[in-house]
Amino acid sequence: MKIQEADAKSLLHAQGLPVPAWDIVHTPAEARAAAERLFLAGNDSVVIKAQVLVGGRGKAGGVKLAGSADEAEAIAGRILGMDIKGITVRKVLVAAAADIVKEFYASAVLDRTERRILLMGSAEGGVEIEQVAETNPEAIIRLHADPALGLLDHQARRFAFAMGLGTHWKAGAAVAQGLVRTMLAYDADLVEVNPLAVVREAGAHGTSAERLVCLDAKITLDDSALARHPDLEALRDPDDEDPADREAREAGISFIKLDGTIGCMVNGAGLAMATMDLVKRAGGAPANFLDIGGGARADKVAAAMRLILADPKVEAILVNIFGGITRGDEVARGLIDARAQQARAVPMVVRIVGTNAAEADALLREARFETAASLDEAAAKAVAATAGSRAGAAAGAGAGSPG
Ligand code: GDP
Ligand code: MN
Repeated sequence: MKIQEADAKSLLHAQGLPVPAWDIVHTPAEARAAAERLFLAGNDSVVIKAQVLVGGRGKAGGVKLAGSADEAEAIAGRILGMDIKGITVRKVLVAAAADIVKEFYASAVLDRTERRILLMGSAEGGVEIEQVAETNPEAIIRLHADPALGLLDHQARRFAFAMGLGTHWKAGAAVAQGLVRTMLAYDADLVEVNPLAVVREAGAHGTSAERLVCLDAKITLDDSALARHPDLEALRDPDDEDPADREAREAGISFIKLDGTIGCMVNGAGLAMATMDLVKRAGGAPANFLDIGGGARADKVAAAMRLILADPKVEAILVNIFGGITRGDEVARGLIDARAQQARAVPMVVRIVGTNAAEADALLREARFETAASLDEAAAKAVAATAGSRAGAAAGAGAGSPG
């Protein structure tokens, strides 16, 4: 789950990282009021940033500086409602504009291969790191945190020196450790600060001082660990989620869309994987992975059917239910209801075994469903019902005919 910059900054701040203060506003008038407060406090310019879950907002025109309250209002008016990479901007962040001396890049990611947190940094901040990785890979510093001990002090110092943070090395080492701490505290997959910036701040009597701050923040949380952080669920952004993914999550269904034409409805993750394998072996391609879970009832079956049919590529549906806790007749009733409400007619093959399989079979036969006794048979029938297979059969017949 991706979270907005402001929410990511809140989490970084909670972990003790240096993040400049900000306001979130939804209208140009609110942006003006926030800017006025900042100008009154002695700032001479403010930054207005679109809050959307995509990178490269700056390049897309979603990050602008304003030198007066009028300008702040006008800029907020332009950014709010703007479309950035397909997402409409509904809120903006307003903060005192930083006087940037130099931009750096710093991030922590889960390195699945090494099974450790990987810390990455570069003096080439501000720009997209993928670009640096391609054109100048040696400009990226990488080091792994110890799974048991975390990021050790000497590692953090080495990181800060290698980044070229100079006199800011202490702050840099603290940021490095803070990134790893943030990863662990919230079960994040990614914590990225780009730019991590050295900024010049006005002090008393016309003096100025430099400080290292997190000017941008991006955090991706591990969906599978969200149950451990119920408070973070509130940070979920509706724009982040595909409508099908949302429906699946709300219905308690595990659903992953794939590229094939055979929609699969199965109970149990292992059985769902096996079903997909057998569809492949029968010459077809699964349109999805779908596990309706144990004890699924009629409403869940109907939700699963809606999810499958929402994919226009689906040409046939294969239902494979092993009744344990799940009762076969309950699933059969759900399928009958779902078919009655079905938006488009798609051939369906149903295999139900286990608890109440006989009752399920009677119900399905009465409702004139295509059933199958074995999974192989079900897969073969589903594949035969798809257009690719019909075309293949026609071509085969053509080749065999005398001519
Ligand atoms: P992104 O484009 O979505 O990554 O958004 P960022 O928050 O990283 O902003 C993009 C760029 O705008 C940064 O790399 C900075 O160069 C610039 N920027 C952002 N905030 C400020 C600020 O407060 N002052 C100045 N001068 N530039 C800023
Ligand atoms: Mn950025």
